[in-house]
Amino acid sequence: MTAASPAPSPAPSGRQHAPVADAPSGRQHAPVADAPPREVDTIVVGAGIAGIAAAARLRRSGVTDVLVVERADDVGGTWRDNVYPGVACDIPAHLYSYSFRPNPGWSRRFAPGSEIQEYLRSVVRDEGLTPQLLLGTDVIDMAWDDDAERWRLSTSRGGLVCRVLILAAGRLSEPVIPQLPGRESFVGPVMHSSAWMPGSDFAGARVGVVGTGASAVQLVPRLAEQGAEVTVFQRSAPWVVPRADAPIPSSARAAFASDPAAMQAHRESLFREFEAGHAARVADGPERESLRQLALSHLAAQVSDEALRARLTPDYEIGCKRVLLSDDWYPAIASGAVALEPSAIVALEGGRAVAASGARHEVDALVFATGFAATRPPFADRVRGRGGRLLADHWAEGMTAYASILMAGFPNLMVLDGPNAALGHNSAFAMIEAQAELAATLVTRMRAEGADVIEASPLAEQTWTAELDAASRGTVWLSGCRSWYVDDRSNRLTLLWPGNATAFRAALGAVGEQPLPLPSPVPASALQS
Ligand SMILES: Cc1cc2nc3c(=O)[nH]c(=O)nc-3n(C[C@H](O)[C@H](O)[C@H](O)COP(=O)(O)OP(=O)(O)OC[C@H]3O[C@@H](n4cnc5c(N)ncnc54)[C@H](O)[C@@H]3O)c2cc1C
Repeated sequence: MTAASPAPSPAPSGRQHAPVADAPSGRQHAPVADAPPREVDTIVVGAGIAGIAAAARLRRSGVTDVLVVERADDVGGTWRDNVYPGVACDIPAHLYSYSFRPNPGWSRRFAPGSEIQEYLRSVVRDEGLTPQLLLGTDVIDMAWDDDAERWRLSTSRGGLVCRVLILAAGRLSEPVIPQLPGRESFVGPVMHSSAWMPGSDFAGARVGVVGTGASAVQLVPRLAEQGAEVTVFQRSAPWVVPRADAPIPSSARAAFASDPAAMQAHRESLFREFEAGHAARVADGPERESLRQLALSHLAAQVSDEALRARLTPDYEIGCKRVLLSDDWYPAIASGAVALEPSAIVALEGGRAVAASGARHEVDALVFATGFAATRPPFADRVRGRGGRLLADHWAEGMTAYASILMAGFPNLMVLDGPNAALGHNSAFAMIEAQAELAATLVTRMRAEGADVIEASPLAEQTWTAELDAASRGTVWLSGCRSWYVDDRSNRLTLLWPGNATAFRAALGAVGEQPLPLPSPVPASALQS
C-alpha cells in the first residue's frame, strides 16, 4: 500500500492547523497554573459556529468583557477539524452562514469545508473578536460556586472565573469509534473522518470505510477517484437525494457583492425552500411521498443492477436519519470502483476486516465515518451545578433544557447546540443564531436589570420538555430507525427540535422577553410549527 500517513492514531482536533492570524494563541502565554484565576464577566467555551455567534452577538450588544476559550489552536470547530477529501456543507452556503455576516463570494452552492473555515476565521477578525480568544486551552472542569455566584473553571492553562458561562462545545465534536475485537492486530493507518491526517495518500491502497452517513458519502467517491480500492461497511443504507452542486459564476458573485438586498432575498428564498422540507418529517403525507419518490428515482437512475439496488434501498422511513445529498455516491458504487459490504464491521483479524455477514475483507487502512457522541456529550461530565450536581447526571435520562439552553440547578449556564437545538431539514446557522441571540439578550438584560443570577425552574424545564416530547410523537424521527437524533436510553428525541426553524426562533424570542430572573413556562402554542 502507498498510504503516506505513518501514524495510526487520530490527530487531536485541529491542532495541526495554523491559528487565526494575529490571534493570541494559548501557546504564546506564560503558564498560569500558579497565578490567581482570571475573572471575566462571560466565558464562552468553544470557538465553532456557536461560540463565534455568541461572542459576536454579545459584542454587538456592547458586552466585551468576554473570553472565548478554545482547546484547539484555531477557531472553526467542525470546519477546522473535518478536512477529509470532499468535505463540504450540505445546506447551500448562502444559508449556511451568519445572517449578520453574509458572504457574496461563495465559490459553489455547497462550499468546500476549507472555504467555510476561512469564512469563520474572517468573521472572527471582522467582528473584532480576536483579542477575546484564548486558544489552545482545554476546559477541564466547570463548577458553580453558590456563595460567590460565579462559575469556576479549571483549564489546561490555569483557573478562570466568570459570572455567566456559555457552553458552545459542539454536538459533533467528539468522534466515536466502535471498539472492535482484534483492533490491536491491525497495524495499518486508522483514522476517524473528523481527524483526517492531511497528506494521506491512499492511491492503490485497500481502504475500509466504516459507515454510510453524511461524511462517508462525501469521502468515498473522492477516495475512489484517487485510486483507492474502497470497501464500504454499510450497517444500514442511507436515503440519498440529488445534490445539484455547481460553481457560482463570478458574475453572480459580483452581483451579490454590489446588491446586498438581492443576496438577502436569495438567502430568504433558500430558507423558505428548506423550511418547507419540515412537512415531510412530521406527517406521512404527500410531501414525504414526493421526497421518497425523489430518492428512489435517484437510486433507480444511477444504479441499474437490481440486486445492488436492493442492497442500497433503505429499510427505514425517509427522514428518520439525515437525508443525504450526493450525485456521485451511487455511481461510485455502481461502477465497481467501490465494493459494498451490506453489513457492519464487527472485528479485525490482522489485515482482515470481519463483517457481520461473515465476509472477510483485506484492508490496508481503515477510516471510521462513524459519527460523534451527540446525544451524550462528554462535556456534561465536566460541568457541576448547584450542590456539585453533574450535568451528566441531570441528563441521565437524556438531554433536557428550558428554551434549549437553560437547565434547572445550573445557574447562569447556557448551553448552545445542546438539547433539542438542531434540525434535520434546515441550516444549523438558523438554530445557532436563535440561541446566541437569546444568550446575548439574557446577558445584557441581567446587566441592565441588575439580576445576578438567572436559572430555569424545574417546572419550566419539565413543562418545556413535556411539550417537546408531545410534539415529537408521530414524527419520522421516532419511527423506529437507530439515529443520533434519539437518546438510546430514554428513546426520546433529544437532539432535534421537532418543529421548524421559524417556530424555534419564535419560542426562544418569547423566552428572551420574560421577566428576569426567569421563567414561567411558555405557552404550548409557542412550540408548535
Ligand atoms: C462534517 C460535517 C458537516 C456538517 N455540515 C452541516 C451542514 O451542511 N449543515 C448543517 O446545518 N449542519 C452541518 N453540520 C453540523 C455542524 O456540526 C454544525 O453546523 C456546526 O458546525 C456546529 O457548530 P458548534 O459551534 O455548535 O460546534 P463545533 O463546530 O463542534 O465547535 C465546538 C468547539 O468547542 C471546542 N471545545 C469542545 N470542548 C472543549 C473544551 N472542553 N474546552 C475548550 N474547547 C472545547 C471544540 O474544539 C470546537 O472548536 C456538519 C457537521 C459535520 C461534522
